[in-house]
Amino acid sequence: MADLDYYAILGVDAAASPEEIKRAFRRLTLEFHPDRHPNDPQIAARYRQINVAYDALSDAAKRSRYDMQRRLGQLDLTRGVDGQSARDLLGNMFGDVFGTRRTQRRKGRDLRYTLTVDFAEAVLGSRHTIEFEAPGACTVCSGTGTRPGGREPDGCDVCGGRGEVKGEGLFARRTRCGRCDGTGLIQVEACTACKGAGARRQARAFDVTLPGGTVAGAERLLAGLGEPGRFGAESGDLRVTVNVRPHPRLERDGDDIRCELHVSVSEAACGAHVAVPTVEGDVALDIPAGVKSGTRLRLRGKGVPRTEPKRGAPARGDQLVAVVVETPNVTDGRVRAALEALEQTCNEAAAYPLRANERGGGDGKGGAKLS
Ligand SMILES: [Zn+2]
Ligand SMILES: [Zn+2]
Repeated sequence: MADLDYYAILGVDAAASPEEIKRAFRRLTLEFHPDRHPNDPQIAARYRQINVAYDALSDAAKRSRYDMQRRLGQLDLTRGVDGQSARDLLGNMFGDVFGTRRTQRRKGRDLRYTLTVDFAEAVLGSRHTIEFEAPGACTVCSGTGTRPGGREPDGCDVCGGRGEVKGEGLFARRTRCGRCDGTGLIQVEACTACKGAGARRQARAFDVTLPGGTVAGAERLLAGLGEPGRFGAESGDLRVTVNVRPHPRLERDGDDIRCELHVSVSEAACGAHVAVPTVEGDVALDIPAGVKSGTRLRLRGKGVPRTEPKRGAPARGDQLVAVVVETPNVTDGRVRAALEALEQTCNEAAAYPLRANERGGGDGKGGAKLS
């Protein structure tokens, strides 16, 4: 933007008539339309310049102000025309011509999808193919909206390719051009399959990869996979929200996974070998003899993969298994008899030293009697 000579940008003489300026603008916007040169930032910048220049020269008042400054050699390009910074100037004018609303209108809309996965799939990471019906690029015209072999779109003659029409009067509002729907372009030979839209509803499939440690409610953004934009404009994005089916036994706690493990009185006392669920299937866990209710046993590295591994720390959290001694239900006479026999034997063998101590020694039964 070294020399912002609007006449030079439009390739017209400083004495050009409004009609000549308009003709030059229409020719240039067609030639340098970003839709014809996708992903070419230089063309896009040139296109913006063309629009800035036209904005200044197509308005009689703006043009005479510009002409005066140009004659006086006052064009300080870091300040722009009206004392605004060049950036403001470009932003404002660009905004006028391609206002945010309009840009959004041109850009394809975002698609949204809620992907429900199992607990283990979220924790370990997983790949999914999701399929649904949504607008996608028309296959007949490759998304151009133009009939194959047909003529390229023309600049809209109602709005002069600007996408907006200015009303009458001093405070007239700019309104979206109805003829071109704000795109500034008109399909001359529209594709019959998509009626010139460039997009058609169709079955679409997407591969979604969830990294390890994905949390419920996380959003994956698949840039550019949304609805196609009009006239080759940028596509929208696909936004996938992750929903996680709860696991019947496992629960996340940061990088760790928690679960409870119920054991019987005898298993707690004698020790046992019990299957415990993990995100990678059941593993056998050794319950040490004499384990106390509430003890947490650790399965190292069976937790959640860390998204930001700390130096020296393992790549995955742990699974913490809380042992809960289950008190037997005495609904069966045999259970009651067995428990009474157990109580008797335990007392004789001094198997409850802590209880005996609290209750004043002896046979372990004394001291607890309520008066
Ligand atoms: Zn088509
Ligand atoms: Zn129009």
